[in-house]
Amino acid sequence: MTKQKVAIIGAGPAGLQSAVSLAELGYEVDLYEKKSRPGGHLAEWHVLFPDMQPAGELLDSLMQKVLAHPQIRLETGVNISGLERAGNSWQLIQSDSVRGEADAVVLASGFKLFEASKKEEYGHGIYPAVISSAELEAIFNREKEWPFEKTNKSPKIGLVHCVGSRDAKCGNLYCSKACCITAVKQAIELKKTFPASEVYCFYMDMRMFGLGYEELYHKAQLDYKVHFIRGRLSEASPSGAGRIQVKAEDTLMGRPLKLTLDMLVLMVGMTASVSPEVKENTVELKEYANKGEFVKIPGAVIGAAQWLKPGLFVAGACKGPATLPEVLNDARATALDLRNYLSGVL
Ligand code: SF4
Repeated sequence: MTKQKVAIIGAGPAGLQSAVSLAELGYEVDLYEKKSRPGGHLAEWHVLFPDMQPAGELLDSLMQKVLAHPQIRLETGVNISGLERAGNSWQLIQSDSVRGEADAVVLASGFKLFEASKKEEYGHGIYPAVISSAELEAIFNREKEWPFEKTNKSPKIGLVHCVGSRDAKCGNLYCSKACCITAVKQAIELKKTFPASEVYCFYMDMRMFGLGYEELYHKAQLDYKVHFIRGRLSEASPSGAGRIQVKAEDTLMGRPLKLTLDMLVLMVGMTASVSPEVKENTVELKEYANKGEFVKIPGAVIGAAQWLKPGLFVAGACKGPATLPEVLNDARATALDLRNYLSGVL
């Protein structure tokens, strides 16, 4: 008997985990990634919160399972530009031709990071000392240089929370969920790299909801002496010798603050990244792609199962901000729901 086939669009953590779970359930899996390499943002990260596991280790273990499974076919550099319903199956369109066909599709296109330069008041892209949290990961991965002198072993560094999230001016009212704990993790990594540094986190509130998050936050304060200041930065301006002056209000102490820093890190949030680049005749995804919104699922509580149309499922952070453990669990849950659909239970 021919095995049923599932196509997955996106080979980040959600796509990779969905592929493994679906293959283990017995399906043939075609996994399409538009970039030249799989892994999504995980491939660009250094270590993961809260236990500082190297991101590469997790990616390697997912990739080993994907590559070793005879029922998974991974193709990179393939931009699926449309989906079309054909009888009981879906056709995957690439550049106006049918690239593949499947009994069900999982959309796992992930998220984009907020463009830090859109918050003009912080000067990203203008002042070299202002970098994004993703650029700091690249520095930890030795793919980029520190923006201050190599001889400076006691830099002053600020981390700004909520850049592009919880911000009506950017049009993003939601919380990106992962950036508070990322700031805590990066602050600890900075203190490990430069024990004599001073590290300041400027936050609105600390959202430490995940397993082990609160403990890591305490560790950052008690063991690493990271300064947490409740207050938003009003602006950043150059201050000679490549340094940055920031102004903020410490809202807990009720006093204004002015600091000169060697590096300012903007904790960029998640934004929508709907793929495929859908065309006129392809389901509702076009609407999401045009508006730049996350894919809406039928219900946030029990509708988390993720199907938009018969046989069209959605997994991971393309539905909205999610942490990595949430993404991996969601991918497993999606695989089970998809099995129920294909076996006629849903
Ligand atoms: S997780 Fe923290 S930094 Fe990120 S948007 Fe939410 S409150 Fe802001």
